[in-house]
Amino acid sequence: MTDDIVTARPSNAAEVADLVRRAQHDSLPITIVAGGHGPWSHAPAPGMRIELADLSDVEIEGLALDGEDAVVHIGGGAVWGDVAAKLGADGLAISSGDTASVGVGGLTLGGGIGLMVRAWGLAADQLVGAQVVTASGGIVETSADENPDLFWALRGGGGNFGIVTRFDFLAHPVTGIAYGEYVITGDAGRVIRAARDVMRDAPRELTMTYMDVPPMDPSAPAGARISAVWAGDDVERFRQVMAPVADLDGVDAEYTTPAYRDILLEMPEPVEGAELPPCFIGGNGLFTRLDDELIDRLVAFRAAYPASVVFLRSLGGAFGEVPQASTAFPARTATWFVMAGAFDIPGVVDDDARAAIRADWERIEAGRLAEYGNFADTERPDAVPGMFTPEAHERLRAVKAQWDPQNVFRRNHNIPV
Ligand SMILES: Cc1cc2nc3c(=O)[nH]c(=O)nc-3n(C[C@H](O)[C@H](O)[C@H](O)COP(=O)(O)OP(=O)(O)OC[C@H]3O[C@@H](n4cnc5c(N)ncnc54)[C@H](O)[C@@H]3O)c2cc1C
Repeated sequence: MTDDIVTARPSNAAEVADLVRRAQHDSLPITIVAGGHGPWSHAPAPGMRIELADLSDVEIEGLALDGEDAVVHIGGGAVWGDVAAKLGADGLAISSGDTASVGVGGLTLGGGIGLMVRAWGLAADQLVGAQVVTASGGIVETSADENPDLFWALRGGGGNFGIVTRFDFLAHPVTGIAYGEYVITGDAGRVIRAARDVMRDAPRELTMTYMDVPPMDPSAPAGARISAVWAGDDVERFRQVMAPVADLDGVDAEYTTPAYRDILLEMPEPVEGAELPPCFIGGNGLFTRLDDELIDRLVAFRAAYPASVVFLRSLGGAFGEVPQASTAFPARTATWFVMAGAFDIPGVVDDDARAAIRADWERIEAGRLAEYGNFADTERPDAVPGMFTPEAHERLRAVKAQWDPQNVFRRNHNIPV
């Protein structure tokens, strides 16, 4: 094996299968790239880099009938912005992530906590089938009826089991979307508490995201804000439900009724060879309770480190109704996803600061049920079991042993054979 990186851009499943066989013949480790936002895509490694961008077709099966879900076939290298644009034209949507350039591949295989997660569940929950190129270079179909163990593992177990060349989703009819943006000045803790209280018995139409990011972060507008997405066109009801947040002093609320595509954030496409953003020290977790103490810790964390991020997204609703054992994703009882971290800026963050950030994060994470792999870094193989229930981790190991006994697909949160 050499230190070379062989980059390949297949345009169909047969070409992907040829590449997997060739990589094994030449003992080249494989990196799979869909949207390119995952850590392994950013960190060039010797071996074969299989870029799936040319597998990006979005096809609606049959006619999209008014008011009915439709099966949609999406190439393994598509990005959510393109999917939303195509489906929106037919009055359909899938609950995806919040950013247009993020890949369907990485997001769905890790779970996918999207903007409509309470209305329709995870991106992975909307999956009804997939075509997979296996470690042996075969092409198989998976669904609840065909290779069901593999299909189960694909919904949360990441890129461990093969290269998905086609995802089959159920897309949902959208009669409309209402969107609220609540820009916060002053005491963010008070606003988060009000948001938490609203979500305790909010209808599933409502999914809420809180973000407080510094100006240097390209992923969202700087400052503290809540964005709320309402799956439906009843704007008046949406306003009523959100009133306890919108009516607070120091909250500037704005309501619109955009197309789903238009609420996805735009972020520059990852550019090969470009300077990487500084690493992130911190972490994430799925929590059942967002209590006052946790909220205070999060607000204090953001205040203590100027280049830090705090992110919360509400769960529950349809997400919580999916039986725990039916997918590999952990913590179906969680009601909030929480992420906090500070950028490790060279020359600004020293060892003492790093230790302080880590200690603060450890206090925050103490109550989490599980870590969400899609926002986890790559350096901690010991952390992987904490991304699943013990039962799911055992089952994932069995599926891995069956479908990838040589660990061909290992540049991921790796499930040991
Ligand atoms: C700006 C931004 C916003 C985000 N927003 C959200 C969000 O709202 N909700 C959320 O849940 N997550 C979100 N994420 C996290 C995101 O889900 C992960 O970063 C995800 O891994 C990105 O997928 P990708 O396809 O773009 O990345 P890639 O780097 O292309 O893929 C990541 C990994 O997934 C596997 N993989 C990808 N495609 C395939 C395939 N077709 N077959 C087999 N394996 C594959 C590979 O192991 C690969 O290393 C966000 C990330 C960023 C950077």
